[in-house]
Amino acid sequence: MKLSHPIEPLSNWLKPQNPNKPLIIAGPCSAETEEQLLVTARQLAQTGKVSALRAGIWKPRTRPGEFEGIGSIGLEWLKKAKAETGLPTTVEVANAKHVEEALAAGVDILWVGARSTVNPFTVQEIADALKGVNIPVMVKNPVNPDLSLWIGALERINGAGITKLAAIQRGFSSFEKSAFRNEPMWELAIQLKTQCPELPIICDPSHICGNRELIPYISQKALDLDMQGLMIESHLDPSVAWTDAKQQLTPASLSDLIDHLTLRHADPQNAAVSDKLAELRKQIDKIDDQIIQKMAERMKIVEKIGEYKRDNDLTILQVNRWDEIIHKRADFAKALQLDLDFTTKLLELVHGESIRIQTNILNEKAEAK
Ligand code: PEP
Ligand code: MN
Repeated sequence: MKLSHPIEPLSNWLKPQNPNKPLIIAGPCSAETEEQLLVTARQLAQTGKVSALRAGIWKPRTRPGEFEGIGSIGLEWLKKAKAETGLPTTVEVANAKHVEEALAAGVDILWVGARSTVNPFTVQEIADALKGVNIPVMVKNPVNPDLSLWIGALERINGAGITKLAAIQRGFSSFEKSAFRNEPMWELAIQLKTQCPELPIICDPSHICGNRELIPYISQKALDLDMQGLMIESHLDPSVAWTDAKQQLTPASLSDLIDHLTLRHADPQNAAVSDKLAELRKQIDKIDDQIIQKMAERMKIVEKIGEYKRDNDLTILQVNRWDEIIHKRADFAKALQLDLDFTTKLLELVHGESIRIQTNILNEKAEAK
C-alpha cells in the first residue's frame, strides 16, 4: 500500500471506554426520527461502553423506493445527541455534498460505505472534498472481494492528506449461499494488515451477519484476529427499525454482548508465556520446512509422470486415479483427526498444481512438434 501521509494510531482519535474491553462504535443503521436517535444515543451512552455514535443519514439502497435516509435534518439530531451525551458522531458520506454538510454540522468521523468503495470516481470525489480537512475517515471494504479496490480507496483518502484513517471490514457479497449476509473473508483483512500494519482495522459484525444471533460469534472472532474495534448497529427497538431490522441490537443487548467479549493480547504478557510460544513456533517452523521440502519432492515426481504421459500420449487427468487419491487420503486424514474439508481442499490445491506442471510439459511437446 502506498501511503502519501503517515497514518496516526487509532488512539489519537478514538479510544475504548474501558481498556479491558474493545473499542465500540454503535448506533442505528439509519437515523429515523429525532426521538429514535436521541433515545438510542442516550441509552448507548449510559452503558459507558460506547466510544462513538454512528447513524446513516443518506442510505445507499439496493432498490429505489426503499427508505433512502432522512437526509440533512438528521445532522441536526446528531448534533443534539452529541451535545447531550458527549459521544463523538460518525456518518456515511457518498459524495462531495455529503462531506461538506457533515463537516459543516460538526460530525467528528466520516465513513465511506461499501457501495462507494467499489467506485474510484466516487472515492476520488470524496477525497477531493476532504483536501485540507483534518477529520478521521473510515473506509469500508468494497462489496466485492477485491483487496486492490479497498487499498485504492484508502490510498485516495490518504492522498487527500487524511492521516486519521481506518479500514472497516463489513464482509463481502458472495454468490454462494451462506449463514452470513456478507462473507467475512478474514483472509482479506489479514492481507490488508500485512500490507499496512499501521492501519487500524475495525470490524462491522452487523453487516457481516445480517442477523442478531451471529453477532457475538463474529465480534469475538474479530477481536481474536486482533481487529482494533467493532462497529455494531444498535436501535432502541430493532423490531420496528426502518432499515436492517434483523441485525440491530437494543443498547441493553449490546451492553450484554460487550460484557461477554474477551479481549486477548496480541503479544505475550510475560516471559514464561513468551518462551513457551517461541518453542511451539519453532516446532511448527520445522514441520513447515519439511512440508515444503516434501512438496518439492512430490512435484519433481509429477514432472517425471508428465514426461512419461507425454511420451506415451496419455491424458493428464485420469479421473479414477484422482478419486483414489481423494478417498485413500480422506480416510487416512480422518483416522488422524484432520478435518475432512481441510484435507480435501489441500489435496485439491496440490492436485491442481500437479495438473499445471503436467500441462506445461505437454505444451512443450506441442510447441516442439
Ligand atoms: C451501514 O453501515 O449502514 C451501511 C450501509 O453499511 P455498508 O456500506 O457496509 O453496506
Ligand atoms: Mn445498516
